[in-house]
Amino acid sequence: MIALADCNNFYVSCERVFQPWLNERPVIVLSNNDGCAIARSNEAKRLGIKMGAPYHQIKDLCQKNRVSVFSSNYELYGDMSRRVVSILMRFAPEYEVYSIDESFLSLEQIHDPVRTAKEMRETVLKWTGIPISIGIGPTKTLAKMANRMAKEQDAGYLMLKESENSLISSIRVSDVWGIGRKIEERLKKLKILTAMDLINAPAPAIRKAGGVQLERTQKELHGMQCIKIEQIPEPKKNVCCSRSFGRTVTDLEELEEAVANHAVRATQKIRKEGSITCGLQVFIMTNRFSKEPQYSNSRTVGFDEPSDDPIRILSTAKELLRSIYRKGYSYKKAGVLLLNLQPRDQYQGLLFKDHHNEKKGRLVEALESINSRHGTGTAFLAAQGIDRTWDMKRNRRTPRYTTNWNEIPTIGNNFEPS
Ligand SMILES: [Mg+2]
Repeated sequence: MIALADCNNFYVSCERVFQPWLNERPVIVLSNNDGCAIARSNEAKRLGIKMGAPYHQIKDLCQKNRVSVFSSNYELYGDMSRRVVSILMRFAPEYEVYSIDESFLSLEQIHDPVRTAKEMRETVLKWTGIPISIGIGPTKTLAKMANRMAKEQDAGYLMLKESENSLISSIRVSDVWGIGRKIEERLKKLKILTAMDLINAPAPAIRKAGGVQLERTQKELHGMQCIKIEQIPEPKKNVCCSRSFGRTVTDLEELEEAVANHAVRATQKIRKEGSITCGLQVFIMTNRFSKEPQYSNSRTVGFDEPSDDPIRILSTAKELLRSIYRKGYSYKKAGVLLLNLQPRDQYQGLLFKDHHNEKKGRLVEALESINSRHGTGTAFLAAQGIDRTWDMKRNRRTPRYTTNWNEIPTIGNNFEPS
């Protein structure tokens, strides 16, 4: 059996851990630059706030119903996610972190999966304050479906056995894991509307409609494991860091700061994975929805020697930016892409090595250790800028309670705001 543990309304739940007066009240969390609702408490869902609803469209509704609105606090969510996973892995050593709030767990060695699910829920709630739902099934696809049903029934956990096909007969194909809009349309033409229809459909028709992937989904619904638990994620080929600005940016200097920050963040990501990059792309663009003159451009460069050195990547990124920057435009977005990543330990160095590298390596290590001890952004390169007024809007972000010493909650300060 496989379990899918999914945190309920995860971002909202994280906010509630540190502001318990938000329990049983409508709460939403907004995307970058406070654009759209990306997490909603059940109370907010009941008010009719849809996933992805632009905030400016629901602002009145929120005010009228006293909905608490927050900017996304990714430092907090990332850290809480890590805590949840560290508890889950005590129960099932074979697991796959599927997303920030979902993990697949292998229950192969476990006698009573339902009892384990119950214990997992209770422990995660007690130790982190995060409510989770657990779906159990013979395959990943069925575990995912069981999870959905557990949430709908407010049951906390639910197990789907192979033989219980009647339970899934009413589920629409579009709600089956891995079936997108396009496949749904094709299946509709074949009169395949429910999960049950999909189970009973002849395999050749399924292959024709959605290739091997859909065939795999069908087998999984039958209880045949086709999608394995991936403990070690596939190494990424590219990494991209980009963001829309909190306001439009016209100055080269401000763009340089933004690109420097993206370059450093992208490099942090690959260093964590133990990769080096063979190339680098920088892109900038204006806001395509505005009526102002439009310009966008990108430029790519390959490295003679693959690198994970933030200083080198940053200065190359700035050079590329200068070569594509044009004065007189209002830029909305900039980004850095690291290309063709390779595992660092498989790389054979150049014959003629630059011996300054060793010193630089120590500097980078020192930067990293300061930041891991005292919080991200404690020490940074001057090129990243100090004020960063161009940075994205997060006007309603709560403190980074668990990752920053200066923002740790203090007793007496956490009472309900009037
Ligand atoms: Mg979730």
